[in-house]
Amino acid sequence: MSSWRGRSLRSAFTFCFAALLSLFCFGPRVTPSTATAPFRVTFIDVGQGDSAWLSTPDGWDILIDGGRESEGPGLVSYLQSQGVSDIEVLVLTHPHADHVGGLVEVVENLEVDQALTNCQPYSTDIYQDFLDLLVSEGIPIVCVQDGDTFAWGAYVSGVTLHPPDPLMSGTGSDANNNSIVLLVTYGTIDFLFTGDIESEAEVAILSGGPAPDAEILKVAHHGSNTSSTASFLAAVGAQDAMVSVGIDNRFALPSPLALERVRATGAAVHRTDLQGNLVVQTDGNTYTVSPERYVQIQMPVAFQAWPADLPEVRVDPGCSQFDAPGSDNHNLNQEYVCFTNWGGSPQLMTDWRVEDERGHTFTFPSFALNAGASVVLHTGSGADSSTDLYWGQARAVWNNAGDRAYLYDATWSLVDTYSY
Ligand SMILES: [Zn+2]
Repeated sequence: MSSWRGRSLRSAFTFCFAALLSLFCFGPRVTPSTATAPFRVTFIDVGQGDSAWLSTPDGWDILIDGGRESEGPGLVSYLQSQGVSDIEVLVLTHPHADHVGGLVEVVENLEVDQALTNCQPYSTDIYQDFLDLLVSEGIPIVCVQDGDTFAWGAYVSGVTLHPPDPLMSGTGSDANNNSIVLLVTYGTIDFLFTGDIESEAEVAILSGGPAPDAEILKVAHHGSNTSSTASFLAAVGAQDAMVSVGIDNRFALPSPLALERVRATGAAVHRTDLQGNLVVQTDGNTYTVSPERYVQIQMPVAFQAWPADLPEVRVDPGCSQFDAPGSDNHNLNQEYVCFTNWGGSPQLMTDWRVEDERGHTFTFPSFALNAGASVVLHTGSGADSSTDLYWGQARAVWNNAGDRAYLYDATWSLVDTYSY
């Protein structure tokens, strides 16, 4: 169009028009840095549990898990202190109490627009309370599975990498292994939220679907040794690994073995137990990690290299049976935990100990486990042999609804834990 306006003015108009187009028509997919505010992810220190708050450049608040019930009030007041009154998306990765507990308080005190869960049946009071509250508040519950995609505002997107449909079954812990795994992206920066998945879920994720690679990884299951397999960590290739874990927790998490595997990938390890809230802030191109307690940055994160003479004996879920057929109490010897020596030499296990979550303790008699061999510890009574030992309990030990086995050596050092 010819115009009486001068060239320079017309050029300015053309420029403005192009700028408007890029802003409003093409939007953030072209240039994520056009957002004026950063995308911020806070791994909140909720003690022994998980909670992450995502704050998008255009004001969406997404909360992934809420720690234990006792953490609820502190979590709510923290979010309120940050100006959060409305949670656009609440994500419960799985029904365990250290993830769902604090969310009850959140739903009671903040506006929640929708809740994403894996819709896994799970019969605990706290999970039922949470579901009942969502229903009574009229909050939509969305069952998610792998392949679901989300646009959270104009800038941040998410894709679910797990769980599959149907849900996993027959794993060491189906509750953990069906955790929702979310890959959240802003610009070129990816965050991977893994809930409490263990090795079985990691294998499933690697077997298909989008690659789980991410700059920032929420280390699975509070740094448990049954998670964070080397192949999964290699596929993620994270630069920064966040461990959400409680100080002096009774599970002795994070596992030094898992931490060692994370460090071996070259990722920097950050821990809520040592450093408090961990804030990651990104413009979509680069990011910073700011721990609440800077003093910890000056010091090596508490970590002990696993000794070279590491006992290779571990709880072996492959030959364990925590739930006996029929009545556990009448079938005590069909309830058993099994240990395998994966090392190359015999392991003396005299005075080693096994514990469950309730503190039932078994002390090994004079015993050595040959390389490559397994020994089964039955709950009931019988004659000990090189392959079978008997706890001598009158009642079942291993809780069918989920429990944890601890293996200590003769000096009471934790060798391994296994949860299901
Ligand atoms: Zn957990």
